[in-house]
Amino acid sequence: MLKRFYHNNTPILSWADDIEEGAMKQATNLAELPFIYSHIALMADTHQGFGMPIGGVMATEDVVIPNAVGVDIGCGLIAAKTDIKEINKKQLKRIIDESYKVIPTGFKHHKKPQKWSGFNNPPDIKIIKKELKSAKHQIGSLGGGNHFCSIEKGDEGYIWIMVHSGSRNLGFKVADYYNKEADRINAKEGYVPKEYNLSPLLLSSDVGEEYFEAMKYCLDFSRGNRERIFTLFYSIFSKVTGAKDLLNKIDIHHNYASKESHFGKEVIVHRKGATRVRKGELGVVPGSMGTPSYIVKGLGHPDSFMSCSHGAGRVISRKKANKQFTKKEANLAMGDIVFKDWGNDLSEAPMAYKDIERVIKNQKDLITPIVKLTPLAVMKG
Ligand code: 5GP
Ligand code: MN
Ligand code: MN
Repeated sequence: MLKRFYHNNTPILSWADDIEEGAMKQATNLAELPFIYSHIALMADTHQGFGMPIGGVMATEDVVIPNAVGVDIGCGLIAAKTDIKEINKKQLKRIIDESYKVIPTGFKHHKKPQKWSGFNNPPDIKIIKKELKSAKHQIGSLGGGNHFCSIEKGDEGYIWIMVHSGSRNLGFKVADYYNKEADRINAKEGYVPKEYNLSPLLLSSDVGEEYFEAMKYCLDFSRGNRERIFTLFYSIFSKVTGAKDLLNKIDIHHNYASKESHFGKEVIVHRKGATRVRKGELGVVPGSMGTPSYIVKGLGHPDSFMSCSHGAGRVISRKKANKQFTKKEANLAMGDIVFKDWGNDLSEAPMAYKDIERVIKNQKDLITPIVKLTPLAVMKG
């Protein structure tokens, strides 16, 4: 299950059973960085990303790498257990239809500025201040691609709701700004080869410190964003179904950096498409719009820096998926799950993702599956 490679004397531990060439190259690039701590960990859903593979976990000493957090800072999920056990097709359709009317998708945002407590005391950082006005229209919008709201049936009998979204354009602007700053500084200092696309910032530098603060604000913003989307989605859900109470609610980020202690040392852990699962901590591992997802409980494995996969992971790029898949295949894979028409985009069809059952099995030493969720209806971004 767990494979161990060495590159440059740095161990690369992988929970994935097959790693595409591009992702492996990116992993060995990480292993060559001079400020790596202990080893590189690749989760079971690892695939190629920009600079760092998605599903990668990397700890560093005194350094933060904006591109190892990614452009959607704080992307993550809410999974909430409702108090109802039954829901019918008509209700599902109505919830999805009405949700598309109140939750903006794609590049769309709210017409009126939205309220969020974090808008009252933003950090004194230029890029944040500049983007704040438009961020007020972004909070509570889903975004595009694989961001989604869904209704799922848990194998313990209850209906669950999920929301997947991140820090919208605010996070993108922050990530882009500091990645360029890091490139500029790195070009002078030459810590990391340019083609790695992994320019670092010293945490003790002004820019490094500023990035970390801006990133943390984006984490709060993404949580506020998911919360707002959830409120809108759940209010329609409860109006249609009569649900009154939430029995459980989990909210997690899967793109972020944080200061944590591992193997007895304070380090910066970068999770780019990975979920933190300390011992007993709950995580959410989504499959796809047509396959199951899992609520999992962490076993706190030190070798994964107490992390697990952030999903099933793609097996095929968006472009290739659109070339290879047909609407007929995609519809077949969706069965009778309620969703809006594909339009011209098949890149999110269930076949674009790895087999979630295998991905879960490959990380049995990291997590215990608690609830298996089967999709009933999905609203995609
Ligand atoms: P990412 O954070 O990399 O954008 O996506 C996380 C994971 O979400 C993907 O690897 C995939 O397994 C899962 N996923 C993508 N779309 C959907 C969806 O519509 N529903 C569910 N349940 N999972 C999805
Ligand atoms: Mn995202
Ligand atoms: Mn995500």
